[in-house]
Amino acid sequence: MRDLASQLAQVKTVAIVGHVRPDGDCVGSCLATYNYISAWFPQIQADVYLEPIPNIFKFLKNAEKIQSSCDSDQTYDLCIVQDCGDVGRLGAAVKYFETAKKTICIDHHVSNDNFADENYIFPDTSSTSELIFELIEEEKITKEIAECIYVGMVHDTGVFQYSSTSARTMNAAGVLMEKGINFSQIVDDTFYTKTFAQNKILGQALLNSRLCQEGAVIATAISQEEMKRFQVLPKHLDGIVSQLRVTKGVEAAIFLYENDDGTWKVSMRSNGKANVADIAIKFKGGGHVRAAGATMEGAPEDIIGRLCAEIERQLHD
Ligand code: AMP
Ligand code: MN
Ligand code: MN
Repeated sequence: MRDLASQLAQVKTVAIVGHVRPDGDCVGSCLATYNYISAWFPQIQADVYLEPIPNIFKFLKNAEKIQSSCDSDQTYDLCIVQDCGDVGRLGAAVKYFETAKKTICIDHHVSNDNFADENYIFPDTSSTSELIFELIEEEKITKEIAECIYVGMVHDTGVFQYSSTSARTMNAAGVLMEKGINFSQIVDDTFYTKTFAQNKILGQALLNSRLCQEGAVIATAISQEEMKRFQVLPKHLDGIVSQLRVTKGVEAAIFLYENDDGTWKVSMRSNGKANVADIAIKFKGGGHVRAAGATMEGAPEDIIGRLCAEIERQLHD
């Protein structure tokens, strides 16, 4: 696949889908594709399916067109899966993937197992949004499309900070800035600004944290009871693991929060020596070398112990 336009020839209906609990890159890249198709291929019926998105992303053009119910039994000529490394992470929208005449996956997860008919997977690229930038014609990137792509790039690079950020990322960001987007407001409003409740639960997570493996790993957990007490939802816990990661001296950070069913959502971050994607894959999760996740069962202390043992093994190999 060289560009998105050639994939759209002869296509009358398209479903765009991302991963469960969509993050900035997932929302940004899916809406970029949706806005590109609706602006330049108005004859195509495009639908975008994502679980409810965080409010901070609702300013993006056509965010209100996102469908979170998958009740419709429509089948599509093409299903484009974005920012999703395996079929299990499609959630309820998997039915549109399974029934589409053709499927394409555009993604950057090292754990991606090439599950679509056509796979455009670049694990070294900072974000799926950066891949979308490369797949659409520069002159067809409207200001609204630029905002979507910029949001995705900002979120998956930690504001152009993580090692996945490349000269190509920065060149793309430069092109997007020239489209007239309010880049500093996008960063402030979608990345740095937190509600009072979010700051309080970050504080609680830090108070709960402890060092393991002689200071090489920092780990913490937030229970359902704490989420209720601080009146926050899982989508409000973004950024906690990043704050853990910047603790002086640590090689890796582990953050757990309790799901409704008593299982634990695991987020891991590495400062370079540990490969957290490999560890996440061992526990049926996935992700990137320096940022990965999984869902695990058991007491949080045991889960942290199992993950720490894996990190310890890697660090001493
Ligand atoms: P998170 O810690 O949730 O911010 O996720 C870090 C990275 O790992 C993201 O790229 C996610 O898409 C990926 N990831 C998180 N949880 C899972 C999971 N259960 N299965 C596969 N990939 C995951
Ligand atoms: Mn994502
Ligand atoms: Mn991504």
